[in-house]
Amino acid sequence: MEFNIALVPGDGIGPEIVGSAVKVMETVADKFGHKFNFTTYLAGGCAIDKYGEPLPQVTVDGCLASDSVLLGAVGGPKWDHLSGNMRPEKALLGLRKVLGLYTNLRPAALQPALAEACVLRPDISEKGFDLMIVRELTGGIYFGERGRNKAGDAAFDTEAYSVLEIERVARAAFEIARKRKKHLTSVDKANVLETSRLWRETVHRIGQTEYPDVTLDDMYVDNAAMQIIRAPSFFDVIVTSNMFGDILSDEASQVTGSIGLLASASLGETTRGMYEPIHGSAPDIAGKDLANPIATILSAAMMLRYSFDLPEEADCIERAVSDVLSAGWRTADIKSPDDENYLSGSQMTEKILEYLGR
Ligand code: NAD
Repeated sequence: MEFNIALVPGDGIGPEIVGSAVKVMETVADKFGHKFNFTTYLAGGCAIDKYGEPLPQVTVDGCLASDSVLLGAVGGPKWDHLSGNMRPEKALLGLRKVLGLYTNLRPAALQPALAEACVLRPDISEKGFDLMIVRELTGGIYFGERGRNKAGDAAFDTEAYSVLEIERVARAAFEIARKRKKHLTSVDKANVLETSRLWRETVHRIGQTEYPDVTLDDMYVDNAAMQIIRAPSFFDVIVTSNMFGDILSDEASQVTGSIGLLASASLGETTRGMYEPIHGSAPDIAGKDLANPIATILSAAMMLRYSFDLPEEADCIERAVSDVLSAGWRTADIKSPDDENYLSGSQMTEKILEYLGR
């Protein structure tokens, strides 16, 4: 099969880690007889430098014309003094908007080989866990009406959700649960918030009518925050609103160990998605070949699974990463303090390519 992929490396370590993911995808394409055509576009600080804006039209058009987008990270101290629409991060919101991406997927799995890096008690971490947080991305309190009173001594933000917004993210979550262990936990605050009551009603209706094969349960967000630490192996897929998902996905990712390992995907109505590591542009290590490429490589694997429906190819990448880690290979961010034989970012990429070829 042939796919056109828009690469948006961005700033800082972005070009290094996207370059690694491209090598991995090219190797997988050769192995399975596919063709991936890559075109690179600028966004973030580098686009401000070249075009005077963080998200130039040429990037928007290129991403819209592609089958999927792989993004590195944007931002850095060079552009920190800029404000409002000129900030590099505006490129991310802009891309999500033009691509119509309303569902954010954040897997948080504990790689058995990295159990020692997990911050949880050993009796909890040794059980392992593999959860997927599905977060609504374009509604809720982050997009609701907000303001201050005239005196400026009171402010408000509004949480609002329509049935349509809830239905579409719920369906995305049920579909994902169907491909995993068929267990979906809907997280809300229905004991207090009216939007949460609508959320719960809607998710249950969709579950009963369209996904009776998926086990659905509800959990209040405060309890969910506790259970992710107490008993993460309980969860398979979690679906929740924009703000709750923002907080819980960061919490879940932190219990797995390094930020350099965590992938994400943003999806909408079509199969075209945007895939990116959860970390930022890490200006402190940019250009030093220290960045861990694994989060971006696993984001590429998610692209193959969710946008291109190539599960075998995605499994192959995930297995190679897991095998490299099980064999003890580490980058600086995941090494133990006394380990002096860790790999650079490019060496880690080569190691993963070697295991892919096995
Ligand atoms: P960051 O995620 O870039 O870095 C936090 C820490 O984690 C740093 O010590 C960094 O060296 C380390 N780190 C991050 N990725 C790593 C990797 N792959 N391998 C090894 N170590 C890694 O967060 P920050 O320092 O708060 O932000 C830096 C810049 O990135 C800022 O301009 C911020 O606005 C931007 N940012 C962008 C995104 C994005 O593009 N999605 C997300 C978050 C932050």
